[in-house]
Amino acid sequence: MDKKGILVVVSGFSGAGKGTIMKRLLEEYPENYALSISATTRAPRPGECHGKEYFFVSEETFEKMIQKDALIEYARYVSNYYGTPKEYVLEQLGQGRDVILEIEIQGALKVKEAYPDTLLLFVSPPNAGELKKRLVNRGTESKATIDSRLKRAFEEAQGVEQYDYFVINDELEECVQEVHSIIKNEHARVARNYALIENIRAELKGFAKGE
Ligand code: 5GP
Repeated sequence: MDKKGILVVVSGFSGAGKGTIMKRLLEEYPENYALSISATTRAPRPGECHGKEYFFVSEETFEKMIQKDALIEYARYVSNYYGTPKEYVLEQLGQGRDVILEIEIQGALKVKEAYPDTLLLFVSPPNAGELKKRLVNRGTESKATIDSRLKRAFEEAQGVEQYDYFVINDELEECVQEVHSIIKNEHARVARNYALIENIRAELKGFAKGE
């Protein structure tokens, strides 16, 4: 068995439903996955807690984290910092869990550069109108923020080709199962199993010599 976890980045337009998909994935397969909790300088939305959705920190604290090299990556998104703390991710990968980072595209590409084995998934609603509807219905953001998120979605749409998989979130449960299958299948890739293959080869060599 491949014991090392896979680093999985899930991106997608704000309002694509990534958060809900990740939550369901962890509820259904708690042994398989660990979700990285990012640090951000944005203010909590109603109902969000420090240490659950994010570590909500000041600009000063965030900049200290950058200086200490405590982040795998970080990016500015709609005037706030967002970054992935390194320690938890590396520890969980070592324990054999697939670690999911729910981050935007600049961060995703930086992670891929630093860890080329990273699997990049892009989640999208079935069409752009649905995206706008979901952002408006969320009811937590001002018109100006919704507009800048839609503008950002347009920019992010230009980078989708750099991802490995494009997943449509139309029916939630179907989408959760699709994401789970993609990650499961990824474990079976030959390139992720060289160590195991080498072991089997070495054993077979022994058998062939009559050992
Ligand atoms: P929101 O403010 O809606 O929670 O997140 C805004 C965007 O920041 C989303 O696209 C989300 O995926 C992204 N994001 C969240 N955490 C991180 C992080 O640690 N690094 C980067 N680069 N983006 C993040």
